[in-house]
Amino acid sequence: MSQSFLDQVAHYARGRVAPEATAWSIGAAPEPALYQEAASLGLLGMEVPEAQGGRGFGFATRAAALEVLAGADFGFAMSLVNTHNIALRLCAPGLEGAAERYLPALLSGRMQACTALTEPGTGSDFAAIGTTARRGAEGWVLNGEKAWIINGRHAGLAVVYAQCAELGDSSGIGAFLVDLTAPGVTRYAIDSAFAQTSLGTGGFHLSGVTLPDEAMVAAPGTAFKAILQEINAARTYVAAMCDGMVQAALDSAAAYGAERCSFGKPLNAIARWQAELEAAQAALAQARAATRQAVEQVAEGADAQLAAAEAKIGSVTCAQTHLPRLLQLMGAEGLRPEHPFTRHIAAAQIAGFTDGATNILKDRVARLTARKET
Ligand SMILES: Cc1cc2nc3c(=O)[nH]c(=O)nc-3n(C[C@H](O)[C@H](O)[C@H](O)COP(=O)(O)OP(=O)(O)OC[C@H]3O[C@@H](n4cnc5c(N)ncnc54)[C@H](O)[C@@H]3O)c2cc1C
Repeated sequence: MSQSFLDQVAHYARGRVAPEATAWSIGAAPEPALYQEAASLGLLGMEVPEAQGGRGFGFATRAAALEVLAGADFGFAMSLVNTHNIALRLCAPGLEGAAERYLPALLSGRMQACTALTEPGTGSDFAAIGTTARRGAEGWVLNGEKAWIINGRHAGLAVVYAQCAELGDSSGIGAFLVDLTAPGVTRYAIDSAFAQTSLGTGGFHLSGVTLPDEAMVAAPGTAFKAILQEINAARTYVAAMCDGMVQAALDSAAAYGAERCSFGKPLNAIARWQAELEAAQAALAQARAATRQAVEQVAEGADAQLAAAEAKIGSVTCAQTHLPRLLQLMGAEGLRPEHPFTRHIAAAQIAGFTDGATNILKDRVARLTARKET
């Protein structure tokens, strides 16, 4: 891992992202300059090879950087890594043309990108997607709608999964590189009481979007399997990001508990108050151990299906359980946007959906464990 890079990321997270994030929980959106600063640190090209303009770090560095960034704001970290992931994908052999066209904008923070599987009608059941890709006279023609996509409201580029054969046939799903400013694409924002601005959550309609043959980045028969592989890395860094949020909340609560007095003594001198804090510390240590194992397996290129699913379940559950309890330790003060608690609580709920909802992952862990035991 590159410690000097991680130190720079920690400085940026604390000094630039955390202060700006205060306003994101009440509706403001990140300034473009913040993406450009992230770009100049190399956050948009962490694993992109140096020969292609990136930093060339390994997966462990990506996970550690995202953990630190999520401690400041999960949504912003997710937005950056989703752009990063498309930049990395463009470095694959055969995509030289697309890399030449889009990499400079992606790596400099001028363009955001997204990966679009989910639709209004289907999320967990990915094989049931209804967006279609059909051969036309001038190439592929895409029709459909994608929803709940990170960066979906402002991304310039997407990898879109679409059905090239009969609906419901998982082996018929292909992936296409789509310019989201092209004719036939209409982007929209999705807002909710959980602020979605730093995630850039949105969706888009695709109406007769015509693409050349080379826009297909994963052919039917390979796309479904490929996404299941890639998702292990995503589950693992989401686990690390949840760990980062719990750590940030612990730090804030510990600092407050040392200074705030109640009934004549600091909060941290009250046994029940301190026990809650220690319970969160213990749960985080356990979650971190599972995350570390998954990071190692993904970094080595091993089959990380089980470790990644277990890490994500453990870290999401730790965050969903302990962030509200840590907020409780703060009293009303914890509700102020200057503190990360409410943003992180919302983000932990979102983490429970993205890259495999918790229930689905629990079933997967049960199946994989049973298979290992037979
Ligand atoms: C803020 C945000 C950002 C997102 N970003 C992206 C993105 O960038 N790209 C993208 O493609 N998608 C994205 N998603 C979508 C996310 O991947 C889906 O929310 C997820 O796949 C779950 O699908 P769903 O929400 O349609 O829930 P559903 O599939 O409708 O499921 C509803 C509930 O039922 C449970 N459930 C469903 N089927 C089963 C089953 N067989 N067994 C047990 N339980 C089951 C689920 O666990 C869930 O709790 C994002 C979602 C959110 C909220």
